[in-house]
Amino acid sequence: MKTIIEPFKIKSIEPINFTTEREREAYLRKAYYNVFMLPAEEVLIDLLTDSGTSAMSARQWAGIMEGDEAYAGAKSFYRFEHKVRQLTGLKNIIPTHQGRAAEKILFTLVGGPGKVIPNNSHFDTTRANIEFSGARAVDLPTSEGRDPDLIADFKGNMDVPALEEFIKKTGASNIPLCMITVTNNSGGGQPVSMQNIRETKELCKKYGIPLFLDACRFAENAYFIKMRENGYSVRSVKEIVSEMFSYADGATMSAKKDAIVNMGGFLALNDDALTTKARNLLIVTEGFPTYGGLAGRDLEAIAQGLDEVLDENYLRYRLRSVEYLGERLTRAGVPILQPPGGHAIYLNAKKFLPHIPVHDYPGESLVVELYRRGGIRSVEIGSVMFGTYDENKQLVPARMELVRLAIPRRVYTQSHIDYVIEVVIEAFEHRNELTGYRITEEAPMLRHFTAKFEKK
Ligand SMILES: *Cc1c(COP(=O)(O)O)cnc(C)c1O
Repeated sequence: MKTIIEPFKIKSIEPINFTTEREREAYLRKAYYNVFMLPAEEVLIDLLTDSGTSAMSARQWAGIMEGDEAYAGAKSFYRFEHKVRQLTGLKNIIPTHQGRAAEKILFTLVGGPGKVIPNNSHFDTTRANIEFSGARAVDLPTSEGRDPDLIADFKGNMDVPALEEFIKKTGASNIPLCMITVTNNSGGGQPVSMQNIRETKELCKKYGIPLFLDACRFAENAYFIKMRENGYSVRSVKEIVSEMFSYADGATMSAKKDAIVNMGGFLALNDDALTTKARNLLIVTEGFPTYGGLAGRDLEAIAQGLDEVLDENYLRYRLRSVEYLGERLTRAGVPILQPPGGHAIYLNAKKFLPHIPVHDYPGESLVVELYRRGGIRSVEIGSVMFGTYDENKQLVPARMELVRLAIPRRVYTQSHIDYVIEVVIEAFEHRNELTGYRITEEAPMLRHFTAKFEKK
């Protein structure tokens, strides 16, 4: 088979800034070893996130010029609304400035003390918004999904039997909705099968619980279904997406992922009464219902991006380019979460740095090293992000210690990725020189964004 090439030509470029190892060591000290605090100019290859970091197409930029900036009833809103409705089949479409704004509105309305929200795995902002409302967020991934070394097709799946047990124990009246995150970001960008979405829906229906999709990477998930699930290879991605959403009563979405834009999101709801309440809240916190915290031009770019993301040449290249990175690292013996996810490769820091105990944050140590050695910015998804403290102030570690290399959409070429491979392999060869970190300052929620560290 021939190389699967980037399905685009480069029309506009942005130079990147080269730095020396010595300079980066100084930048790290200044940032208290938290790469979120590094100015982007000090980063060579930025794999911090695939969120809002995508390159827009010429057509999206053209759409930016077409943006209708009317306060109410802008043409751009109707184009956006039409596109999202067509895609999801959901009735009421509420634009928000990003995914978490949709979550905030949703969980302000359905959350609160005593309520519990199950999910295959909650993303950090979803969990934070649920907990901020006073409700509880529960992850129910399958046992396959918990095993970082196992190669399986749909490790993002919800554990449906566990969900039923959970519903019986908790009482359906305490569960305002159930979520499925596609792809499962916190679980390694792993896809959820159509069968699993269907079975989850049937179970939810039996207990009268609405099912919501956290739809950030719906198109990547759909292409995995096309490649891996029986009976779907002959279906178009568009059809697969329609079927996925046909099981949903609502959805939250960060357009910064699979709408290939730099800002935006939406909340989509079938429930009219809930929609009225959500729009009222939207007006207080985001904006009028036909712009919801976005400019008309943003709505245009989202509508166009939602078309482009369904292009199967794009999705084939997208998933292959991530898999390529994973393949090369695996070949060199670097431990990664298997198999490669849709938007990122997750290094298994526990295995990469077995000599650094979990309470010394091996993921943080690896993140610092990739930046120091190669100017690559990654993110820890482990006990810094998800760790909590028990009543004795002892760290309750996360299930896994991962370092995510998230690949922005349409931004980096294969030679950038080859460079990343070289740096990771070099760091792996020198892994015994790395040491742990301690946290010197942290916020009570989402501490990974602002925590300060020092070397142990
Ligand atoms: C990014 C993301 C969110 C939050 O979206 P923002 O636009 O960053 O607020 C929610 N869920 C998942 C799965 C995500 O990846």
